[in-house]
Amino acid sequence: MVRISVVKNAGFCFGVRRAIRLAFFAVKKNRKKVFTLGPLIHNPQMVDDLKKKGVYVVDDLSEIDQGCLIIRSHGVHPKILKAAKKKKLKIIDATCPFVKKAQNNAKLLCDQGYQVVVVGEADHPEVKSIVGYTKDKALVINHTKNGLNLNKFKKIGVVAQTTLNIDLFKQVIDKLIESAKEIKIYNTICNATSLMQGKTSKMAQRVDLMIVVGGYNSANTNRLAKLCKRIGTKTYHVETSKKLEKSWFKNVKNVGVTAGTSTPPWIIQDVVKKIKTFV
Ligand code: SF4
Repeated sequence: MVRISVVKNAGFCFGVRRAIRLAFFAVKKNRKKVFTLGPLIHNPQMVDDLKKKGVYVVDDLSEIDQGCLIIRSHGVHPKILKAAKKKKLKIIDATCPFVKKAQNNAKLLCDQGYQVVVVGEADHPEVKSIVGYTKDKALVINHTKNGLNLNKFKKIGVVAQTTLNIDLFKQVIDKLIESAKEIKIYNTICNATSLMQGKTSKMAQRVDLMIVVGGYNSANTNRLAKLCKRIGTKTYHVETSKKLEKSWFKNVKNVGVTAGTSTPPWIIQDVVKKIKTFV
């Protein structure tokens, strides 16, 4: 008998669930066309589903002149918000409250004269939005290698990308303390991803095979797959049940299933259903 266990609460986090709910609400309530700047979440199947229901993705504000614009859970640079208002678009702000907190803390630090440092990935839309709230003055750091010498700044204020690994945050702060005379830190890490990593790691340690479900473009899903592999458990990352292969389950007694914060529940259920047909 093969046992299939799914990590508790795997899939949508609070911020993503809220953004999807707001998007569906916008379609229902507005006769106008509904758009998002970039995909609402990093999951192609969900983005397709949203499109079928009337939520369209645009890459740039110049592509739209009217309608309703949903701000993604990552938030946006205030310049974009201003431009959207100027175009008189109806704005629905689905910025996750945890991201909003990071943006507000960065702004506060900047207003108080701190050199703001955002610990995170410079290219990530959320980090770009946080930097925007410091009038683009913030520095972005995601390593502890040489070059972290910020001696010229008397006051340093630090915030984190919400999905940052806590260990990296601690390491960067350790380095910053060596150069700063005054340092103010806001821990803006959201625990949704770290909790999921903790639960996934525990499961990976007790099963023979891990199936990680989620968009191939989802950073946090990829991180989960890497984590399971690092533990030494045989792991496959699939976007949907169609990618599962029967041969993976040969001689397997315990299968663990986990998913990134942007994976819809129906895709996880579908994967579990398909695994059951193999074992
Ligand atoms: S991972 Fe955390 S910060 Fe990001 S959308 Fe989800 S709840 Fe919000």
